[in-house]
Amino acid sequence: MKRHSSPPLLVTILLLALVPHGRIRGLAGGYFVFDTGPSFFSGLNPDRARKNSNPLRTILDVIDEGVDCVPYSTFGLVFPEGDLVHAPNFGKIGGAIHEISGDEGARQWSNLMDKMMPLAKAVDAMPTMALRGDVGLAITGGMFLPNFAKLNPLENLKLTRPFSDVIRSAGVSDAFVRNWLDVLCFCLSGVPSDGTITAEMALMMGEFYDEDAVMDCPVGGARSIVNALVRGIEKGGRGKVAVRSHVSEICIDNGRAVGVRLRRDPNGSMIRARMGVISNLSIWDLLNSGIVDVDAFPSSFVEKRANTPACPSFMHLHVGFRMTREELSALQAHYIYVDDWERSVTDEENCALISIPSVHDTTLAPDGYAVLHVYTPATERYDRWDGVKRNTPEYDRLKEERSAFLWRVLEKVVPDIRTRAVHRQVGTPLTHQRYLNRHRGTYGPAIYAGDGSFPFPNTPVKNLLVCGDSCFPGIGVPAVSGSGVIAANTISLNTIGGQLEVLRKIKVQS
Ligand SMILES: Cc1cc2nc3c(=O)[nH]c(=O)nc-3n(C[C@H](O)[C@H](O)[C@H](O)COP(=O)(O)OP(=O)(O)OC[C@H]3O[C@@H](n4cnc5c(N)ncnc54)[C@H](O)[C@@H]3O)c2cc1C
Repeated sequence: MKRHSSPPLLVTILLLALVPHGRIRGLAGGYFVFDTGPSFFSGLNPDRARKNSNPLRTILDVIDEGVDCVPYSTFGLVFPEGDLVHAPNFGKIGGAIHEISGDEGARQWSNLMDKMMPLAKAVDAMPTMALRGDVGLAITGGMFLPNFAKLNPLENLKLTRPFSDVIRSAGVSDAFVRNWLDVLCFCLSGVPSDGTITAEMALMMGEFYDEDAVMDCPVGGARSIVNALVRGIEKGGRGKVAVRSHVSEICIDNGRAVGVRLRRDPNGSMIRARMGVISNLSIWDLLNSGIVDVDAFPSSFVEKRANTPACPSFMHLHVGFRMTREELSALQAHYIYVDDWERSVTDEENCALISIPSVHDTTLAPDGYAVLHVYTPATERYDRWDGVKRNTPEYDRLKEERSAFLWRVLEKVVPDIRTRAVHRQVGTPLTHQRYLNRHRGTYGPAIYAGDGSFPFPNTPVKNLLVCGDSCFPGIGVPAVSGSGVIAANTISLNTIGGQLEVLRKIKVQS
């Protein structure tokens, strides 16, 4: 939730969490610091050139904040074909595709990359920072129109189509390549390649497969990114991030959002929003939780948006374990595990992701120890957990039962993990629901490209805008950063001047 007043522009971010970045810590001879969510980042390292297609990095540059990152370029794949290393040469001679599918697989991959090149240029042509959800787009987007003159308009049309169309048109029939692309799409968007929008893949393929592609391990974990954003907001007293501030009501008066009320202060004064309210709630939580009077919206809007299909949730396992630096150096910081290609990657207990940030970051665990997080990527059905009470024997039994798969996966990478483990914590869909205040602990909207699209931030209620993973461009930290920027710019036409200033700055720098 953001409140703006003018001049000078003030932003108040109200968050229900105790700390802005959320936190899990375990004590065992010192602190373990775990990340519970995102861990795959790229394009953040301030020592490397920025791509304007990454809104998170652009925001950090604009607010003059950086995040220390350790660059790395490989991660592990534990697939039915065997253990592989994913590197930027993945599809080239000597890379993993060549190893599994030979010359023909590598040739098909190369075809796909050729098809992706103009699509990547089309995505780059209009940075998210130039977008807005009002007529001001003609001015802010106009700055980048010359980029389109160099492009084939047909490529732009492909960007909103399912990525599977591009795979087909590149003549990719090799089973391993197709399976890998499905996993990659699923990990990024929560749906396989027939549902993932091509624009997202055009952006991400460059991050993985450009000659100089690297990933970034933020030192200190994802909280370092959040802390940098908070510093940027609070710099110069122009904004404030208030934690322990559970918004219980978005107040609407005469068809306009005028402020919010906090749960700790239900009868108290409203926090008045001079310019507007931006809600970061998921669309289901906005429309179904009673936080806003839905009668203020046309019923067609409520019906359509509240019925957005939702991805399932997660099982998580966080482990603090004994391991020397030498042993860690033999591991990858990430592994993607798939059990059986005959089953869909969206099936329960077929796919898991392991993140071992201690491979690159020594700040998260005491000497001689390390942290890891293994989770099912949005495949855990919520209905199994619906109605189960936390802190009951039934809950504990279900946690044990549903985390067994994660232990089995871990043992494929660290066979003696159970004896090394000194701290373990299981997270469930109920954990997600509770701590993120999220409908059914969902990963986000399961919007299939071709069937629907992520909406822009405007709502029928004046001065009420939305951002986050229920909005364009979708799920993922860079994407939700982009949606926040679009919403913030759309709050008033008065922001056009400031937005143009930012765009000139990034255009000059790029
Ligand atoms: C396990 C996992 C791994 C992931 N891995 C990656 C990755 O590697 N890379 C990547 O880019 N993305 C990844 N993602 C996706 C990414 O984390 C999400 O898409 C993104 O965090 C969604 O951001 P959001 O702001 O929309 O929602 P959220 O992150 O859910 O933030 C919403 C915030 O609003 C607060 N809130 C809710 N209700 C209220 C209220 N009433 N009052 C005040 N505050 C409230 C919540 O506490 C929360 O802090 C991952 C997600 C998960 C779960």
